[in-house]
Amino acid sequence: MEKHYDFAQIERQMQEFWEREQIYRFDQEADGEIYSIDTPPPTVSGSLHIGHLFSYTQGEIIARFRRMQGYNVMYPFGFDDNGLPTERLVEREEGIRANTLSRSAFISKCRNITEKYESEFRTFWKSLGFSVDWSLEYKTISPEVRKISQELFLELVKTGKAYTKESPVLWCVECQTSIAQAELETDDVESAFHYLPFFVEGESLEVATTRPELLYGCVCLFVNPADERYRHYVGKTAAVPLYDYEIPVLADDKVSIDKGTGVVMCATFGDSTDAEWFEKYKLPYRSIILPNGNIAGDVPLIGGLGVHAARQEIIRLLAERGLLIKSEKITHTIGKHERCGRPIEIIPSRQWYIDILSEQERFLKAADEINWYPANMKNRYIAWVENLKWDWCISRQRFSGVPFPVWYCRNCGKPVFAEPEQLPVNPLESKYDGTCGCGGTDFLPESAVFDTWVTSSVTPQINERHGLKLAPMSMRTHAHEIIRTWTFYTIVRSLYHTGSIPWKDLMICGFILAKKDGNQKEKISKSKNNSALDPKYLIVAHSADVLRYWSAGARLGTDTFFSPDDLGISKRFITKLWNASRFAISHLQDIDLSRKPELLPIDRWMTERVKETVTTAGNLLGEYEIGSARHVIDEFFWKDFCDNYIEIIKERLYNPGIHGIEERRSGQYALYDTLLEILKMYSIYVPHITEFIYQKFFRQHEQVISIHLTHWMNPSSVDTKLIHFGEKVKDVIFEMRKYKSERNLSMRSELEMLEIHTEKQYENWFRQTEKDIQACTKAKSIKYFIK
Ligand SMILES: [Zn+2]
Ligand SMILES: [Zn+2]
Repeated sequence: MEKHYDFAQIERQMQEFWEREQIYRFDQEADGEIYSIDTPPPTVSGSLHIGHLFSYTQGEIIARFRRMQGYNVMYPFGFDDNGLPTERLVEREEGIRANTLSRSAFISKCRNITEKYESEFRTFWKSLGFSVDWSLEYKTISPEVRKISQELFLELVKTGKAYTKESPVLWCVECQTSIAQAELETDDVESAFHYLPFFVEGESLEVATTRPELLYGCVCLFVNPADERYRHYVGKTAAVPLYDYEIPVLADDKVSIDKGTGVVMCATFGDSTDAEWFEKYKLPYRSIILPNGNIAGDVPLIGGLGVHAARQEIIRLLAERGLLIKSEKITHTIGKHERCGRPIEIIPSRQWYIDILSEQERFLKAADEINWYPANMKNRYIAWVENLKWDWCISRQRFSGVPFPVWYCRNCGKPVFAEPEQLPVNPLESKYDGTCGCGGTDFLPESAVFDTWVTSSVTPQINERHGLKLAPMSMRTHAHEIIRTWTFYTIVRSLYHTGSIPWKDLMICGFILAKKDGNQKEKISKSKNNSALDPKYLIVAHSADVLRYWSAGARLGTDTFFSPDDLGISKRFITKLWNASRFAISHLQDIDLSRKPELLPIDRWMTERVKETVTTAGNLLGEYEIGSARHVIDEFFWKDFCDNYIEIIKERLYNPGIHGIEERRSGQYALYDTLLEILKMYSIYVPHITEFIYQKFFRQHEQVISIHLTHWMNPSSVDTKLIHFGEKVKDVIFEMRKYKSERNLSMRSELEMLEIHTEKQYENWFRQTEKDIQACTKAKSIKYFIK
């Protein structure tokens, strides 16, 4: 074997070998229970970053582990290439706005750009050595997936779980579309409470508001029914300052007594509480903000202005007329759109929804039927489900997405739906042929598209498109930021369509954080200027195996910082694995595996220790703890195998004349066995170097074509007495090294006599190891003290 490991060339060679031999092809007829993996289809919204590499690699390691356990692993991959994130990428890249182009021209730009990115993504995952079966690939915008998505939507319509209604909805004035609660991000901003007088029978009732520009949208005042100060106002009417019209004063226990003055103005719509009150008390609607974010033209004093300018103008007018009692700086929490950062408005419109509020209990119960790894991630899901305020709004007033298979009767307004054989359908391009219940024959197509999560929440069904029944799938893996979207929505859809949970196990990974100025942590996908952290570049510079090994360093679910300096440990590991393998293999060239020799105790210790390590690591991997498992293997490899065992048997391998031919054979046998098991354990983390070493040497002796098709050892028991014996031998070596280094002696310097203190039960084994110990410690003689 070469002195230096040329990763660039070898990694490419190994990937070509796997592809040529179809090592990872899924054959549903093959032996073994099917283990199906629901991989997150990455959103095509820009280039991949180190965070993707980190979390996707962790799932990949599990795929390899399950395959070695004997499962028939189905490991597909998909791309989520429609919806707002993709549209925003195209707008950025092309320097355009979707609404300045024809719909079809914009969509075709989206297709071209997503194809470019998808091919980049695919190359990237292959260059990381992913064991995906690429023949199972899907795209959420492809006709076959559009058909599945539309079919399942129609199923929800039929069961009453999808419905349309006109009501207040979360609206992004920047993206000009409705959004769902899950796309809302909260932010604390500097703002001000403005105190204004409303007049009740000539008396002034003070109200503090952060949004005085909504004054003309004010439909009532609320106080808390328990608030003594205001009880006598309830049921009376108040005059709105500046606009001078009368509104009722009502009581509701959602009003906090100690916030502001304890009197709240309800406008249509300042926030989600306003929207709740609007529906609860059947309040009238007074339109203020238009979908484009401007104040409606017919609003007196501020019509046509933007929200910010309108607020300034109202404050100025209030002050001028002596109606501004005071303004007071506060920090308060607002809702922003996660995609663009713009504060969200609430605007009434007709949208499609999936009912989620009425089934919260069922979603909570489902959480108990799923195995969460790590277990505490379940709490995030529960907190989200318990805090749901809105049904899931699934229509988006956008362009590149899966269309609703829906038209509306021009006569009565009722929706009509596509027939199954028409799917996939775009109602903007196809006519509805039927007749409405009212006799109408003229129909208006729905122009909105599905929220992208509508389609990506049915990935288990998409993975079943070739007819193989998978539900519930074996596992899903992703990072924790999409628990409220991907995890939640998929559980909802699975319960609605199949009546059961979507997967048995859920493996949730952490994030990679970048250090921002001032030591603030920042999620790497949101930080700017980290092109030095471009994972494509990192692979070229450091190798896929180095990055993969690094990815498996943290405990599952924990967030980690990354800097390229952190790869030093991985690189030292690869060098160590290469050198240790080279050394071992150089002594195994003449190995005779046809007859198992009688093993010496120290060689038996090694084969027992490797069994013990395989078992412990396997148990951790079964719990998806790839980081803790790797640490167990590392401990064994560095300390027991490299630092001790190789040092102990070195002389025996070199000098059969002194140590005996059968004794050398015993060492060779244990060395072969142990190195092979070490390579197998590491093959899930560093698949290229381990495969290369396997092919270079072990393949000629083993029946299996690739190390990745070998089996994870499943030992029935481990001889603990031998393990203890090995620890005692390690102690002797440790004491000898300590003795020499404390006296500044070379490790090769000779010792007159070595004392070994041990129990009777180990005496015989020690005596059988005597030559090895003498060679390793350079002791001229050994004296035993038996306890
Ligand atoms: Zn937006
Ligand atoms: Zn009709």
